[in-house]
Amino acid sequence: MSSKLRLACSSISILSMLAVTASAAPRREIQFPDIPGYKTIICDFHTHTVFSDGLVWPTVRMDEAWREGIDAIAVTDHIEYQPHSEYVSTDHNASYEVAMPAAQSNKIMLIKGTEITRGTPPGHFNAVFINDVDPIDTGEFMDAVQAATEQGGFVFWNHPGWKGPELGQWKKVHQTLYENKWLGGVEVLNGTQYYAPAHEWCLEKGLAMLGNSDVHRPSMHKSTETGDHRALTLVFAKEFTQDAIKEALNAARSAAWDQNRIIGREEHLAPLFNASVQVFPPHYGYEEHLWVEMKNNSHQTYELKRTGDMGPRIITLEADASIIVRLESGEENGEIILEYTVENVLIAPNKGLPVTLTIPRKP
Ligand code: ZN
Repeated sequence: MSSKLRLACSSISILSMLAVTASAAPRREIQFPDIPGYKTIICDFHTHTVFSDGLVWPTVRMDEAWREGIDAIAVTDHIEYQPHSEYVSTDHNASYEVAMPAAQSNKIMLIKGTEITRGTPPGHFNAVFINDVDPIDTGEFMDAVQAATEQGGFVFWNHPGWKGPELGQWKKVHQTLYENKWLGGVEVLNGTQYYAPAHEWCLEKGLAMLGNSDVHRPSMHKSTETGDHRALTLVFAKEFTQDAIKEALNAARSAAWDQNRIIGREEHLAPLFNASVQVFPPHYGYEEHLWVEMKNNSHQTYELKRTGDMGPRIITLEADASIIVRLESGEENGEIILEYTVENVLIAPNKGLPVTLTIPRKP
């Protein structure tokens, strides 16, 4: 073998080693703009691994998070339900420890968490931003929540409409948690399931709204398609850190996002819409008609229904795309105001976000 050939062979083997250690697939960023004063952080606070009833190794969750454009994720294996215990360790802290190196190499914020898993009521609760799961493994439910809170954990009620005759009801135990300031939020979305009563509770009681995947199997979302993603929580945080995410949840600055909906509060979703959508001055006018371009810089397709007098009855602002709208107006030189409701951005059950599209004066 010539020395040149040897050199070529050794660089090929180094290259193939590098290829093996690189992350599984490229990341598709989820595009949501920041809102004034806050960064928009993409989070999933509810996932499982083989260390409870999930069907993947914890590092796989970190590869999925990278691929799917997620910024922060919690692995929240059940404390009380470990069906793989014959084959896998029952150490409650194991999934976090196993996932951590992959989280670090994949630039994912890994939040330590667990799922307190009881019958209904009370139901299932996630504790996130905790340090140690072991003290949360208690006989009494209230002791478990207290132990999580004492560690500085943030506790939220999972899939409140799930299972039992009391499904979807705010019971005495929930009121007690709330009065003790031990309950910070509720999943208004779990997978594709939306819980309208939970949306109402969060509005009434100042609780954070969460949207989470609760993924158990490998996540099969295609990283190449804008509309294909797991249920996620958008957190509006002061900084891009775990502490800032926790502060934002405690201040109820979050929204839940599933395939075609955002669920939240008007005070966050109005600035999110306004930061997402650009409306340009008319670029063409002809016989009492004007043509204007509108651009949606977010990953959410906005479905608008007219509430005012001007503009098309329906406008669909496709995710990451621009459209041209024809208006019946000769008013080429003045500002034009269009009033709409965004039907798939819910600020309360059955209540879309009211928006104003202001078409600027021609420059
Ligand atoms: Zn779960």
